[in-house]
Amino acid sequence: MSTSQPLPRFADIIFPTAVRQPFTYQIPENLQDEIKVGLRVWVPFQRRKSIGVVVNLHSDTPDFNTRDVEQILDDKPILSPEMMKLTKWIHRFYYCGWGEVIQAALPAGLNFYSEKYILIKNHPGDEQLDNKDANIIEEVAKKESYLLKEAKKRWSAAAIDRLQKRGYLEVREEPELKVAPSTSRLWEWTPEGEQEKVLELINRHREEDKMYKWVEALELLHMLGLPEFQKNLTRHELLDSYTLNRIADEGLISAREVESTDISFKYEYDPSALKKLNDEQEMALVEIKSSLDKEEFANYLLFGITGSGKTEVYIHALREVLDKGKGGLVLVPEIGLTPQIVKRFYQIFGDDIAVLHSRLTVREKYDAWRSLQKGEKRIAIGARSAVFAPVQNLGLIIVDEEHDASYKQEDPAPRYHARDVAIMRGTINDAAVVMGSATPSMVSLYGAKKGKSKLLSLTKRPLDAKLPKVKVLDLKQYRSAMQGPVAVPLYEKIKEAVDKNEQAILLYNRRGYASFLQCETCGHIPECPNCSVSLTFHKSKRQLRCHYCGYAARRPEVCGECGKADLEAMGSGTQQLEEQISDIFPEVRLLRMDFDTTSGRDAHADILAKFARKEADILVGTQIVGKGLDFPDVTVVGVINADTELAFPTFRAGERMYQLLSQVAGRSGRADKEGKVYFQTWQADHPALMAAKNHDYKEFARRELAFRKTLKYPPYSRIIRFVFKGKREQRVQRVARVFTETLIEQVGGFDSVLGPSPSAVSKVQKFYRWETLLKIDPSNGAGAIEHLLDNTFSDYEHRKPDKTSSVRINVNVDALE
Ligand code: ADP
Ligand code: ZN
Repeated sequence: MSTSQPLPRFADIIFPTAVRQPFTYQIPENLQDEIKVGLRVWVPFQRRKSIGVVVNLHSDTPDFNTRDVEQILDDKPILSPEMMKLTKWIHRFYYCGWGEVIQAALPAGLNFYSEKYILIKNHPGDEQLDNKDANIIEEVAKKESYLLKEAKKRWSAAAIDRLQKRGYLEVREEPELKVAPSTSRLWEWTPEGEQEKVLELINRHREEDKMYKWVEALELLHMLGLPEFQKNLTRHELLDSYTLNRIADEGLISAREVESTDISFKYEYDPSALKKLNDEQEMALVEIKSSLDKEEFANYLLFGITGSGKTEVYIHALREVLDKGKGGLVLVPEIGLTPQIVKRFYQIFGDDIAVLHSRLTVREKYDAWRSLQKGEKRIAIGARSAVFAPVQNLGLIIVDEEHDASYKQEDPAPRYHARDVAIMRGTINDAAVVMGSATPSMVSLYGAKKGKSKLLSLTKRPLDAKLPKVKVLDLKQYRSAMQGPVAVPLYEKIKEAVDKNEQAILLYNRRGYASFLQCETCGHIPECPNCSVSLTFHKSKRQLRCHYCGYAARRPEVCGECGKADLEAMGSGTQQLEEQISDIFPEVRLLRMDFDTTSGRDAHADILAKFARKEADILVGTQIVGKGLDFPDVTVVGVINADTELAFPTFRAGERMYQLLSQVAGRSGRADKEGKVYFQTWQADHPALMAAKNHDYKEFARRELAFRKTLKYPPYSRIIRFVFKGKREQRVQRVARVFTETLIEQVGGFDSVLGPSPSAVSKVQKFYRWETLLKIDPSNGAGAIEHLLDNTFSDYEHRKPDKTSSVRINVNVDALE
C-alpha cells in the first residue's frame, strides 16, 4: 500500500469563454496519476468536444453529474505556476474569464486553439462512390490526416459532409499545429550587385531611354535596400516575383531560404558599441542594479526627457541581468516597434533576442515562444501581449513609454493594462520593473509620490542636443491671416524650408469617432457642468450629452462663451486637410500618414522611409507621426490643431494633449540644424499647452493632479466602466438602468456611480451602447473588485429585465477611453 495522498478524482477545468467559474469533470482512474494543474485536456463541452485547461484538482464530489476527462493533451503544463498565478490575477482584477486570459496570453498551438483534420474511417469499395468522391478518399488516404479547412477549399464542404455522413470520413480536432517551421525567401545583392554599378546601370538605361520594368524595379530595390524578405518586397506593385527573378538573371541579386524569425541578416551585432553612461544614467543604473542583486521585486519610474538616454539605461540593466544568468522582458508600444529600437537591442544582445510583434504568423509566434521557453533566447521584446512571453528565470521587465495608451487592451476581454500586468508579474517573479517615460502617466507619477515606485530622473541630453523653440499661434488672432488651414507665420516658415530643400511635418490630431460642437469664432467647446469633460454631439437627436453622468441639453444656438451663432459640428475631416495643404502648396510633394494609409504595419515604416529619402517635402499625418520626427532635414514641425484632444469626452484629455505636444516639442531639434515647432490653437493659454511649450512636465503634473483630486478621477479613484450593448435600444437602456440600480445598492450610494448614459459613440454596427461608470477607491485590488462584481452580477441575475440576455454587459476595469 502506498502511503501517499489519495489521487484526485475531479478536475476543475476552464475554457476560453467569459464564464468565470470553472467546470468540474471526473478523472477516469487511468488518468488520475498523470493529470496536473496547467495541462490541457480534451473533454466534452456543451454539445461538442473542446480543449480545456486544468486549474484545480480535488476529490470533493459535486452535487451534480459530471462528465469524464477524455484525454490529456500535454506532457508538461503549458503554463508555469507563476503564469497560472498571473493569469488568475488578471481574471480576478479585470473581471473576465480565466480561459479568456490564457487564450490571449498563449500563442496558437499552445492555447485552446485547435485544428480540425479529416481522416479515413472506413475504406469504401470503389463501386460505392462516384469518381469525384473516390478521388477525395484517395487523396486523404495518401496523407495521414488532412486539414479540414483545406479539404473544404479543395473539394467542397458539401462533398466532405456527405462522405462524413456516409461514415467514410471522420473529423478529429487536435491542438497541435501541424505546420512545418516557416522559412521565407530572402533577397540579397550578389557581389556583382555593387551599389555603384547598379546606379551606373540604371543611369545608362535612363540615358538610352530604356527604362524597362525590371530596371525601374531595380531602382526601387536600390532605394529600399537589401537584404529583405520577398514577402515584404512584393508588397510593392513593381516587385513581383517574376521581376525579381528577371533581375536575378542579370546576376545582381540572389535569393535564399531562411527561417522567418531570423533577424540576424537585418541588424549588425556589435556589443562593443555599448555606450559609457553619464553620471545621471549611472545613478539610475546603480539603483536598478541594487534590486537586481537582491533578486526581489522593485518598481522604478525612469522619468527622462526625450533623448536623455533612457534606452541606454535599459540596455545596461539588461546586460547586468543576463550576466546573472537571468532573462529580461522589454515592452514597447506597438507603434514603437520600429526597426530603430530593435536595431539597438540587437546590436548589443544579438540572437539572445526574440522579437514578438503582431505581424508574425501563427507559426512564427509559436517558434519565438518555444525558443524563449527552452531558454535559447533570453530576452523578449514586443508590444502589449509580450507581457506574457515565457522568458525563463525572469529578472527584469522594462516598460518603455509607460504612459502609452496602447498598453491597455480595450476590446475584447481580457481588458488588461500591460504595464500593470508587468508590475504584477514582477511581484510574482521577484523581478525588477522599470517603467520609462518622458511624460509619465498621472497614475505612475502618483504611485512614485506614494512610494509604490522609486523615481529616477534623467534631466540632460548626453549629446547636448538642444530642445527646439516652440511658438504658439493663437488662432483667435490669426483669423484673418490664414492660408487655408495654416496661420501665416507657419505658412511662411514652411515655404522658406521647402525653398531651401528642407522638410516640414504637419501634424493634425484626428479623433474621428466622436463628434462635438466648436465655436468657429472663439474656439470654445461646450463642457459638462458636472464632469469637466467636453460634451458629445448626438446629431440625430440634436442633443449635447455628457457620456459620464448622462447630462443632456438641446443643441445650443449660440456659443456659451462669446454669444455668436457660430457653432459647428466637428470630429472628422481627414483627407480634407491634405487637400487644403496641397491647395496652398501646389508645387510641393506631399506624403500623408494616418490610420487609413498605414493599415499594414510596414506601411508605416515605408512612409517614414520615403520621407527620410526626401521623396516628399511635407509629411502630413495624424498623431501616429508623433514618434517618427527624427529627420535631419526637418526644420519645421507644425501642429495644426493643438487643442483637438480637449474635445474628446474624457477627463484624460489634458494629459493626452500634453503627451502629444511634448512629444512633438521634444523629438525634433536633435539634429544640428535648428528646428522650429509651431502649435496652432484656439486656447493659447491652456495650461497643458503652455507646459508643453515650456518643456515643463512638473508644472503640468501639478495642475493636472489638483484637477483630478477635486473631481476624484484617477489616480484618486479607480474607474470601472460597464458597457451595455444590444440591438434594441429600449432594452439596452432598461438593462443599463436595472444593472446600475443594482450596482448603486451594492456600493451603498450614488456618489461613486455615474450614468447610465449613451456612450460617446452611441451606436456601433447596429448595436446601441450605453454605459455606466463606477469610481472606487484606488486601493481596491483584485479581491475587492471580484467580491463587489460577483455580488452585483448575482443580484442582477434575479431582477434582470432581459431574460434572454440579448444585451451584453462588458466590464472594463481601469478603462482608459
Ligand atoms: P531616450 O530613450 O531617452 O529617448 P536614447 O537612449 O535614445 O534616449 O538616447 C538619445 C541619443 O543619445 C541616442 O542617440 C543615444 O545613442 C545617445 N546616448 C544615450 N546615452 C549616451 C551616452 N551615455 N553616451 C553617448 N551617447 C548616448
Ligand atoms: Zn457630466
